[in-house]
Amino acid sequence: MSDHYVKVKVQLEEIQFPGEETEKDVEVVAGLELSVSSSSSSSSSAAATSVAQDGKSRNDSGRKPISKPRSKSRGKPLDPGRRSRSKSAKDGTQGVASVNLQEKMENTACTAERLQNPSSNEAALEIKGSGKVLQGKAEQSKGQHGKEDGSKVQRKKRSVTVDSSKAKTSLEALKTSIKQLKWKEFPAGRRLPCDIYWHGVSFHDNENIFSGQVNKFPGMMEMVRKINLSRAVRTMHELFPEEYNFYPRSWILPEEFQLFAAEVRMAKENDSSWKPTFIVKPDGGSQGDGIYLIKDPNDFRMLGSAHNKPAVIQEYIIKPLLIDKLKFDIRLYVLVKSLEPLEIYIAKEGLSRFCTEPYQEPSQKNLHHVFMHLTNYSLNVHSGNFIHSDSMNTGSKRTFSSILYRLSSKGIDIKKVWSDIISLVIKTVIALAPELKVYYQADIPTGKPGPTCFQILGFDILLMKNLKPVLLEVNANPSMRIEHEQEVAPGVFEYVPSAVDEEVKVGVIRDTLRLVDPAPRKATNNQLRLAGIASEMQEDISDAGSSDKSEQDSGVKENNLPSLCLKQVLPKYAKQFNYLRVIDRIAELFVRFLGVKGTMRLGPTGFRTFIRNCKLCNSNLSMASVDILYIDITRRWNGMGAEQRESGMCLQAFVEAFFYLAQRRFKSLPLHEQVTALADLCGAAKRRAALAACQPEGIHSVPTAPAPPHHFNCPAAASKSADYRFHRPVLPTIKGNCIENSAVN
Ligand code: ADP
Repeated sequence: MSDHYVKVKVQLEEIQFPGEETEKDVEVVAGLELSVSSSSSSSSSAAATSVAQDGKSRNDSGRKPISKPRSKSRGKPLDPGRRSRSKSAKDGTQGVASVNLQEKMENTACTAERLQNPSSNEAALEIKGSGKVLQGKAEQSKGQHGKEDGSKVQRKKRSVTVDSSKAKTSLEALKTSIKQLKWKEFPAGRRLPCDIYWHGVSFHDNENIFSGQVNKFPGMMEMVRKINLSRAVRTMHELFPEEYNFYPRSWILPEEFQLFAAEVRMAKENDSSWKPTFIVKPDGGSQGDGIYLIKDPNDFRMLGSAHNKPAVIQEYIIKPLLIDKLKFDIRLYVLVKSLEPLEIYIAKEGLSRFCTEPYQEPSQKNLHHVFMHLTNYSLNVHSGNFIHSDSMNTGSKRTFSSILYRLSSKGIDIKKVWSDIISLVIKTVIALAPELKVYYQADIPTGKPGPTCFQILGFDILLMKNLKPVLLEVNANPSMRIEHEQEVAPGVFEYVPSAVDEEVKVGVIRDTLRLVDPAPRKATNNQLRLAGIASEMQEDISDAGSSDKSEQDSGVKENNLPSLCLKQVLPKYAKQFNYLRVIDRIAELFVRFLGVKGTMRLGPTGFRTFIRNCKLCNSNLSMASVDILYIDITRRWNGMGAEQRESGMCLQAFVEAFFYLAQRRFKSLPLHEQVTALADLCGAAKRRAALAACQPEGIHSVPTAPAPPHHFNCPAAASKSADYRFHRPVLPTIKGNCIENSAVN
C-alpha cells in the first residue's frame, strides 16, 4: 500500500458516513429526491450497432464485432470437491436433534414473539427459518455437535465450522477470512453438520442441509435476473413513483416490444429534439455478454432473431459522471442477513470499475465502442489500456472510497451521495424481498428445521453527472476473486494476487461471517430457557448495526480484528422505509392461501378462499367474476416467458389482481393508498380469525381496536388461521363481472 494511499485512507476514515450519523442526520436519507432524467443525446444517427454481442449475433447484424478474447490457460482449479453429507442426514442424528429443538422452539415462539418490540406495526410473515427461531435452533444444534466432537462446549468456546467445499471462486477470500477469525474450515465438506455452508452459486449447491446457515437464499439468482429485477422495481414504481425512480426506464422483451416502440414514437413526436439511446441486455446475461446499444426501436428489429429472446431494453444513461474522462461504475457489496426480519448491511468500501477508452456521448460512430460504454471489468481487462495497480486510487479498478475522496476534494457533498446510495440499496432489497419470501417458504417450509440463509449481493451502480445514483443491476454471485489474470509469458496467463480486490472482498466475507456467527455473544449461561435465548438473540440482532461498540465487544476485540466494514442500514433506518413494504403484506397473504407446502403458485381454490376470508365479495364483485379475474390474470402471466410453465397464479399475478381489487374497492385514492387500505382490510380479517382461534371455544368477541399483528404469530393460532379449510365458506350473494370495464394496471 503506497504512502499516498494510506494518507487518503486516513482522511477518508475521518469522513462521516451516513451509517454513523445521528437520528437527525438520518432524516436526510428519508427525504431523498432521486430521478433518472433522460437527457437528450447529441447523436443524430438512428442505426443500431452491436457493442458486446456474442460473435454470432454480431456477424448476423453485420456490424463491427468486439469480441472478448478467447479463454486462456487458467491458474488453479478452485473447486476441490467434497464428500457427500447426505449420509449423516439420512442417519437422522442431526435431523432428530433439530426436529426436537424445533418443537421446543415452536412452543416458546409465542413467548419469544411477545418479547420482541411490542410497538412494531409491521405484520410479521409467518415464515420460520429466516428469523430468530431457527437461529435459536442453530445455536442449540451447535451444542449437540459440540458433544459429538467431544469438546467442552459450555466451558470452552468452540470454533465455528465452515464448509467451504462449494465456495468456488470465493475460496481464497473465504480461506483468508476463516484464518483471520480462527474458525475451522472444512474444505472437503464434513460428515457432521457445519455451522456455515459457503456456496459459490446457489442455495442448492449442497443438498440435504438441515441446520446451520447457507450463504445463499433460495430464489435469489432468479429474482435478480434482469427481467425479474425490472418487474420487481416496476411494481414498486407503480406504487411509489417518486421513490423508485433510480432505475432506468425499462421494457421487457419480447412481449413489450410494441409498447416500447409506441412509447418512443410518441415521446419523439412530442419532443423532436429527443435523441435517446437504448441498451439491450439479454435476460440471463452477465459480464456484458450480448449487450448492445441502439438509437431507435427499428434498429432492434434489424438484429434478426435476437428479438425473440428474453431481454430488457433500457434507457441508456448518456451523461454519466466521469473521472479522468472515463465512465466508471460502483460495485457495492450488500449483505442481506435475514429476510424476516429484513436485515440489510452495506459494505463501507466497494470497487469502482473504469472504462478504458475516454467517454463520449453515444453516436453512430462510437455506439459499438465497448471500452467506452461498458464498465465491466471482464471486458475492459482485455483492453490494451487496462491498468492493473496495487494502489487503491489509480488504475482501472479502484476502491469506492478513493472515488468519494476525489469527489470530496472537489467540494462535492459525498454524504448526500452516500445517503442516496444507501436509500437505493434499501429500496431495491425491499422490492425483491416479497418474492424471496415465497421462494423461502417453498424451499424451507414452516416446520422444516432449517437451514437459515444470508447472502452477499453485488450492487452495480452508476453515478450520473448530476451525482444521482442509478441502479444498473444486482448480482446474486458477485465475484469474490482476490486474484487477477496476468500474462506472464506471451499467451500464458496466471492468477496473481490483487491488492484492491483483497482489501475489499476479504473484509466483506470476514465481516459477513462475524455478523452471522452462530456463537452467542452474551448468553453463556446454559440455564437460560429457550424463550430467554430467543429474546437475548433478538436483542443482539437489534443491537448489531445500531451500535458498532456492541459488535466490537463481542468477540471482535479478542481476535484483534478491525472494526466491521459492514454497516447495518435495516432495521436501523426502518422508520424511514417501512411504509414502502406494502408488497410484503400482499406476499404474506399469498403465502397464507397457498395451502400446499412447498408450492409457489396459488390455485383457483386458494384464490377464492382468499376472497372469502378477506370478505372481498360485495355487490360489485361476485364469485363468478373473481374466477374470471383469476383465469384472466393467471393465463396472461403464465403466457409470459418460456420459464413460466407451472400452472397456477404466481406472486406477481396475485399482486396484479390485488391492485385491481384495491382500485375497485377504494376508488379515487392514489394507488399505494388503495393497496394499503385493502391490505389493512385483509389484515383485520386475519386478526379476527386468529383471535377466534386463540380464544376458548364459544367466545367470539371481536376486539374494539385491532391488536398489533405480532400477537398473532403464535404458530398454533397462525397455522389455524392460515389454513383456509378452517373457515366456513361465504357464498357469493351479488353478481357482477369484475373484468368488464376493468383498468388493470
Ligand atoms: P451485465 O450483467 O452483463 O454486466 P449490466 O446491466 O451490468 O449487465 O450492464 C453492463 C454494463 O453496461 C454496465 O456495467 C454499465 O457500464 C453499462 N450499462 C448498463 N445499463 C446501462 C444504462 N442504462 N445506462 C448506461 N450504461 C449502462
